[in-house]
Amino acid sequence: MPDLLKTEQDGLTFFQSPQFLAYPQIRHGFFTRLGGVSTGDFASLNFRFTGDDHDKVMRNYAIAAHVLGYGENDIVRTNQQHTDCIEVVTGHPGEFCFAKEGAPVDALMTDVRGVVLTGFYADCQLLMLYDHKAKAIAVAHAGWRGVKNEIARKTIEKMSEVYGTRPRDLECVVGPSICRSCFETDDDVYQALCETYGEKISDFVYRQDEKWHIDLKNITYSSLISAGVPAYNIDISSICPCCGDRSLWWSHRRQGNARGVHAGMIVLV
Ligand SMILES: [Zn+2]
Repeated sequence: MPDLLKTEQDGLTFFQSPQFLAYPQIRHGFFTRLGGVSTGDFASLNFRFTGDDHDKVMRNYAIAAHVLGYGENDIVRTNQQHTDCIEVVTGHPGEFCFAKEGAPVDALMTDVRGVVLTGFYADCQLLMLYDHKAKAIAVAHAGWRGVKNEIARKTIEKMSEVYGTRPRDLECVVGPSICRSCFETDDDVYQALCETYGEKISDFVYRQDEKWHIDLKNITYSSLISAGVPAYNIDISSICPCCGDRSLWWSHRRQGNARGVHAGMIVLV
């Protein structure tokens, strides 16, 4: 389970998967707070329009896409609502857009070159997947509800259906996301995960001071392995936005809504 690498380029600081970097056919990045133009709680590379200046957020999209060699009009983004809705992008839309206007989309996939798939995180997991045989990419957003809904497994199944993806040809990376120490919950989250994973969930939780602590990173790792992805092909960031470097990360748990949101982008060159 190799960790991600820190990259500094054009004033941005972002993280990359060593496995993905072995493939010149794709470019990707998990962006930090640094390098954008937003101010205050949103300083500086914020991708959420709510509460922030629209033009500044658009500028942030352009800055991030540019570091991958693209522009804001190449971006197709999720509309994350903790669902298991997965959308297939079948053409280059030619403008900055949601994958499906007005509808929830928590995972996106494409085999179209030059489409910058963009998802968001601030504690939640953002997964990126690359089928190096079929030349297709995907992003998937997984908070605990996404983990309960098995969005990682469902995204792989959808890639198999659409692109003929074999799990053994997939490279997968999980970005910076909340750690088991910070992810403290009550019975409701534990029970919800039990409904999906049954007794296996006991391998990924511990009890402390009347609270559950749940290791979402390792649940996702286990789900990817169960789906048939080779262990060697999975990179998971050890970084937690909640207890990590505050100059780099926003955390929903630590800050509530007085914060920006991070983006991850991946594109087939
Ligand atoms: Zn933490």
